[in-house]
Amino acid sequence: MKLTIVGCSGSFPGPDSPSSCYLLEAEGYRLVLDFGNGALGALQRHIGLYDVDAICLSHLHADHCLDLCPYHVVRTYSPDGPLPRIPVHAPADAPRRLAAAYGMPDEPGMETAFDFSPLTPGTFEAGPFEVTCARMNHPVETFGFRVSYGGRSVAYSGDTGESAELVRLAADADLLLCEASFLDRPDLPTDLHLTGRQAAEHAAKAGAGALVLTHLVPWYDPAEILRDASRGGFGGRMELARSGAVYDLG
Ligand SMILES: [Zn+2]
Ligand SMILES: [Zn+2]
Repeated sequence: MKLTIVGCSGSFPGPDSPSSCYLLEAEGYRLVLDFGNGALGALQRHIGLYDVDAICLSHLHADHCLDLCPYHVVRTYSPDGPLPRIPVHAPADAPRRLAAAYGMPDEPGMETAFDFSPLTPGTFEAGPFEVTCARMNHPVETFGFRVSYGGRSVAYSGDTGESAELVRLAADADLLLCEASFLDRPDLPTDLHLTGRQAAEHAAKAGAGALVLTHLVPWYDPAEILRDASRGGFGGRMELARSGAVYDLG
């Protein structure tokens, strides 16, 4: 299983990265986790334009889902004709919300390009992957994912405040891709995002093998996020996400 960080910029694109988008590959199957604004451009550095086999969207904030709009164009208006529909696992409101973002009627909306399935907590299969999703702690309906293949697992927090569900989802995962949006300061809003320290605490409680800090918001210095994380009691390998980074999980 191979993980590629396509986009790791939090809340909006930055100069060096699009918004959230992660590519998981195994047996030639290509699963995209989140498709934030700007991600479609960077994704083409890693796979062909038409090569996505399935998409999972953690939630419907723009920085996690908006590039489904241009990808609808790609799959519908390709010069060689429309491409087959691909599965999109997303919160239940995704078809209506994305049709509105595009400016198209709800019916058929994007159903001609995408086969939407509403997420509920539990496990489903996507090609060779087993995907488990759980509700996270964010102001809108949001899911974290755990993607497993060949005895290896990657867990992804989506956007979340502190969450026991995230600790369960990431239990003994080989790699936890965890958001770290806030600097560790007093009086932070609750139930919204994590600091680097909180991300490391979640990784430590989960017993994850490695921690990759992501959803890095461009107005903060990422070195400060990493410094905060060093105070979270996590003893494993820990680093900042970077657009273009590849992790081969064997
Ligand atoms: Zn976000
Ligand atoms: Zn969000």
